[in-house]
Amino acid sequence: MSNVRHLLGISGGKDSAALAIYLNKLYPKLDMQYYTCDTGRELQETYKLIDQLQIELNKDILQLDSVDLSNQNLESAFDYFLAQYGGLLPAQNMRWCTKKMKLDPFENWIGDVPTISYVGIRGDEDREGYISTKPNIQSIFPFRKNIWSEDVIKRVLDAKNEEQILEYYPKYLEGTKLEKAVKTFKKKLNFAFSKKQKVEALLNIDIKAFNKVVFDYLKTTELPVGQLDEFPLVENNEILVRNDIFQLIEESAVDLPGYYKPLDYVVDGEKGKYFRSRSGCFFCFYQQKIEWVWLLENHPKLFEKAKSYEKEGYSWIEGETLDDLAKPERVEAIKREHLKRKKRAYEKLYKSTDWQDAVLGEDNKRSTTSNASWLDELSDAEGDGCASCFI
Ligand code: SF4
Repeated sequence: MSNVRHLLGISGGKDSAALAIYLNKLYPKLDMQYYTCDTGRELQETYKLIDQLQIELNKDILQLDSVDLSNQNLESAFDYFLAQYGGLLPAQNMRWCTKKMKLDPFENWIGDVPTISYVGIRGDEDREGYISTKPNIQSIFPFRKNIWSEDVIKRVLDAKNEEQILEYYPKYLEGTKLEKAVKTFKKKLNFAFSKKQKVEALLNIDIKAFNKVVFDYLKTTELPVGQLDEFPLVENNEILVRNDIFQLIEESAVDLPGYYKPLDYVVDGEKGKYFRSRSGCFFCFYQQKIEWVWLLENHPKLFEKAKSYEKEGYSWIEGETLDDLAKPERVEAIKREHLKRKKRAYEKLYKSTDWQDAVLGEDNKRSTTSNASWLDELSDAEGDGCASCFI
């Protein structure tokens, strides 16, 4: 029996929660361990989600602490590290928060044990997520058509491994499918045929066969998946997109975190909708200005707390303090701009003249684009930020 660990980090977002539910349902025999890294500055909904998930999964979700606060007169891990950084607020180009409060505790906890980290990046997203630089940690993306991380693909497609890989294919394919796979595999990479396109082409021939070939290859390496006797995910050819995630959560006993629920706001007599698009710290610098307004109007104490971290020269938003953002005329301007943008986007997307119906998803039947609803707005935000905090 191998000593490889199977880990899934719960960020507080919908996708990691759905992945936990999905894997628990499909692969109950996988000895999965769940963990979360608490910054001490998460939204209440995140804690509620974790409580509900523990019941749904019938397993504990381990809380990894980045610092021992028992002998410190500090409110949170964030406060501890903020002091260490001399009050320098984290920002997109200075993201010490993720490293110190999410990645370091995770890697310290694992140590040198071979580990498979399951990541909830969906089949409709084009991003890679967290790839540890530690060789004993391997990421797997079960919702995607390509479940393997870039480092694995790079090795599989390396010309020096071609002969070895091609020996595996006849175990899983025959006839024209095999011929096609061999031909595709032998096709040289160039500007018109990228690594990504090659993988896509191989997956399109047969997802399971590709996965089994990769698994055979991994068995000849030191990577964690290769140390397993069997890996049931090679048999999985499902691709899950955003709607599937919502359905998985809806069918479980877990509630969708409340911050996703669109709430009404009114500006210039017109109604718009705002909500928070991501989990993570309530003051996260990745949030859009309309989300700061949402925080101000729906969680005023948290907004005040976020404000209290701003000092001369340090603000959460570049070029604007939260004090300025909270001024009524500024709040109105942000709402007006948000409403204008959404109207433009929905009028373009839908044939409808009533953009509010479209926002509410009531216009789907008339829409030329299927699968469209107010949740499309999430897409605007999902690409930003890091997998550790928001998935
Ligand atoms: S949620 Fe935002 S502020 Fe919090 S740790 Fe993640 S990136 Fe940093």
